[in-house]
Amino acid sequence: MTERMFVDTHAHLQWESFDDDREDVLERAKEKHVTRIVNMGFDIAGSLKGINIAEKYEGLYATVGIHPHSANTLTTKIVDKLREIAVNPKVVAIGEIGLDYYRNFSPREVQKQAFETQLALARELELPVVIHDREAHDDILQALSRFKGEIKGVMHCFSGTKEMAQQCIDLGFKIAFNGTITYPKNHELREIVDWIDLKSMLLETDCPWLAPQEVRGKRNEPSFLPMIAKEIANLKRICVNDLAEITTRNAKEILKMTATPCED
Ligand SMILES: [Zn+2]
Ligand SMILES: [Zn+2]
Repeated sequence: MTERMFVDTHAHLQWESFDDDREDVLERAKEKHVTRIVNMGFDIAGSLKGINIAEKYEGLYATVGIHPHSANTLTTKIVDKLREIAVNPKVVAIGEIGLDYYRNFSPREVQKQAFETQLALARELELPVVIHDREAHDDILQALSRFKGEIKGVMHCFSGTKEMAQQCIDLGFKIAFNGTITYPKNHELREIVDWIDLKSMLLETDCPWLAPQEVRGKRNEPSFLPMIAKEIANLKRICVNDLAEITTRNAKEILKMTATPCED
């Protein structure tokens, strides 16, 4: 029998709220069988710190990218920097990139431009992408459609409709679910989980944010991932071990996790 293993496909362990106890956080993750964690980049400093942490530990990976909140910082020089740091063997994707029309920290046109530029970079580097989409479903789909067949990746913290999920899957994307699936109000998201093919699902925490209901309001961390898995396994009427196995396989398929695997 294979041992239960989870991949947290979207964490921000480089965030300063982990600076004082990162080792303990990783230890607790291991105890809960979360053996692979992807540190998601959001700006250059965050991407570099994510890589730096990933280089220290087995089973840790990183992505590089400029978050839509910081879209207005994406100059040609920054794109060159992303290109330079993306060659690190611990880098498994370009992300998180996308559009955030909820906060609008950068103007929409600027966000769209930064998104396109980074999609083109991912295509050039032959890396998958991790997409952040907040209230920007149509424009996200439009942009991804322009790269159809050339880019694959992950829709993180999915908040769209069933129809959108299907369109993303058709474009070569997997759908990642996090603690929001455990929030009482999120019936629509649970319906999507109930409907979606297991082959298209990934698990993530998006820590330090979005702690699952049981620990809501606390700092989120990868060791809470099994709470999300439990909820999803219930909805799918399968055992948690099977869900762990399938979602781990899915993560390996979509993300470039080739550096220093921990058990194979
Ligand atoms: Zn995000
Ligand atoms: Zn994130």
